Amino acid sequence: MLPNIYTENEKTKLRKIGITSLFDLFLYLPNRYQDRTKVDRIKDLNKDQYHQIEGEVSFVNASYRPRKNLIVVIDDATGTLQLRFLNFYPSQIKQFALGEKIRVYGIVKEQSFIREMIHPEYEIIQKHKIPPQHLTAVYPLVSGVTQKAVLKLVKKAFKFINEKNNIIDFFYKLNKQRNLPDLIESITMLHMPDKKSIINNHIYRNKLAYDELLAHQLFFRGLYHQKKNFLAKPISKDESIYNLFISSLSFELTNMQKKTYLEIMKDLKQTSPMNRLLQGDVGCGKTIVATLAAIQTIKNGYQVALMAPTEILAEQHYNNLKKWLDPLKISVGFLSGSISKKDKLFVTEMVMQGNIDLLVGTHALIQDNVRFKSLALYIIDEQHRFGVEQRLSIRAKNKIDKKYQAHQLMMSATPIPRTLSMSYFADMDISTINELPPGRQKIKTKLIADSRRTEFLSIIQSHCKEGDQVYWVCPLIEESEKLQLETVENTFKEVTSSFASLTVGLIHGRMKSKEKESIMHKFKIGDLQILVATTVIEVGVDVPNATMIIIENAERMGLSQLHQLRGRVGRGVKESTCILLYGKKLSNIAKDRLKVIYENMDGFKISEEDLRLRGPGEFLGLKQSGLPVLKIADINKHKTLLDMAKEDAEDLINEKHNKIESHLQRWISNYQEITRT
Ligand code: ADP
Ligand code: MG
Repeated sequence: MLPNIYTENEKTKLRKIGITSLFDLFLYLPNRYQDRTKVDRIKDLNKDQYHQIEGEVSFVNASYRPRKNLIVVIDDATGTLQLRFLNFYPSQIKQFALGEKIRVYGIVKEQSFIREMIHPEYEIIQKHKIPPQHLTAVYPLVSGVTQKAVLKLVKKAFKFINEKNNIIDFFYKLNKQRNLPDLIESITMLHMPDKKSIINNHIYRNKLAYDELLAHQLFFRGLYHQKKNFLAKPISKDESIYNLFISSLSFELTNMQKKTYLEIMKDLKQTSPMNRLLQGDVGCGKTIVATLAAIQTIKNGYQVALMAPTEILAEQHYNNLKKWLDPLKISVGFLSGSISKKDKLFVTEMVMQGNIDLLVGTHALIQDNVRFKSLALYIIDEQHRFGVEQRLSIRAKNKIDKKYQAHQLMMSATPIPRTLSMSYFADMDISTINELPPGRQKIKTKLIADSRRTEFLSIIQSHCKEGDQVYWVCPLIEESEKLQLETVENTFKEVTSSFASLTVGLIHGRMKSKEKESIMHKFKIGDLQILVATTVIEVGVDVPNATMIIIENAERMGLSQLHQLRGRVGRGVKESTCILLYGKKLSNIAKDRLKVIYENMDGFKISEEDLRLRGPGEFLGLKQSGLPVLKIADINKHKTLLDMAKEDAEDLINEKHNKIESHLQRWISNYQEITRT
């Protein structure tokens, strides 16, 4: 909320620069400063340097041909200086009346012995006015809001808080211990530094960054500790069912799979809910680990839910799990938004009565009418697709009653860079699988210009003749679903006519779930040789015999998305190829991104690069989410501050400091809304 010291007009300006509270305005930091504390004499001016001078207008001339040009000469008794405006309004000419006293600030140029300033900032001053005692801030601007206007808004804000004295440090002692300057001193010195304090600019910026990181930590660690307010069913480990299941598999678990399984079981043994993220690169085998946790939970007499972001993936999980778990006498059910009403009713009824042990599905699972008899573990696959905000909302909904919460296990194939796991994911514990099962073949990545697309058709032909299968992925067109549909359908036609002797299938998000299922099935059993698809196949889909993927307009996709898509191949024993097609005009950033994908196979490295190129806001899709985006702090730059904030937030939460709320409110104004459970 903006205080009423501002007129409606001023409030509009503030909103234009994205400011909705007084504190926001204090965080709107200048890019640089100007020294306007003294007035120089015209005779002392130095070429190519900034100066402030005062003088009287002694000459004015506006001409319009060959182009607009307004010349104003000012005089200060020591010399004359010419001001030149190439862009001006009639009202401005009037302002520069002869004899008018003005103060100007700008860079001095010299043109054939005439000293001039081009487009200086100026101010009409009736009589001599003492120049500001502090340096003058230069703010980043948006159109429609001038530098002068921002300066005025900031000045008003300071006047207001100096009267109210209401911008105080909530954690005064901590601030002293950490040797940080006061909050009020910091914002004053950032907006109106005196000449001496300017060398401490970074100290004041760091103070704000620390406060922000502290709020961020209090928010996420606060969520982490919320679990202590809830109970969960403790799950014990049964070795015989573990051995039975493992022996039914055609492979051995990797060491990392075993290790992460034990980490999860250790959490499940507790009487407070687990909140753990299992991360690991595409194809590292997370599903088995989650399945083991599910089996143990069910063996303890409880139910498990498994949620996937797409219907195709949910379906695939359902089929695999049914196959794996039938022999263990575990009943598996399926639920998605597109199954018939009757089936839905039947499934939800079975779940309620406890006749389904493991319910697999899409986000239809978190809808209100699904009630479990005894849910104890909630698994969310490909969590990165759900976004941080949805993650928090799932968490809020995942309450069995006032006292009980289900254990929660999330899986993600987009590894979270360390700085993010310490910040945006600090509400969870993290387990990492950092190896792939043995025997995986490398994936060859090729970058090919779209104009050369006909050249690789023969490769595909021979590829398929050898019994291999191909994905052909069309780009996501976010602006228009209709356009998207057109694109896949056209590609489908093109591919079908290019490969008359091959069977080609089409799959996209607009198809009915039964259709999708049957196409996926045909592809899986090898009835289709080429599958033209939208990004619906991006996550999780596992068809080991597919060894080639062609991605159209790869430059439009995010790095993690490309890595995920590439991960659809290289799942079997044969070598695989990923062809990235790119369009004509590549921006530099698009080139950089494709280069990263081309050069790296390691999902961790790609995530780091993605984060570096896009920043955390974009990386996590926070822009529209209402979740706290860091404005001052930069988690990549302020690692030491992040460590400090982490430690301090932990202490504050432990001692239940009574100002935590206030600090959160100041920095994350909508935090209550986000976390309402
Ligand atoms: P992701 O971690 O990407 O979800 P999946 O769980 O889908 O990966 O596993 C990818 C493939 O690897 C599956 O076909 C799975 O059966 C297989 N797999 C899992 N663990 C192993 C292992 N230890 N050895 C060999 N293959 C494995
Ligand atoms: Mg998976």
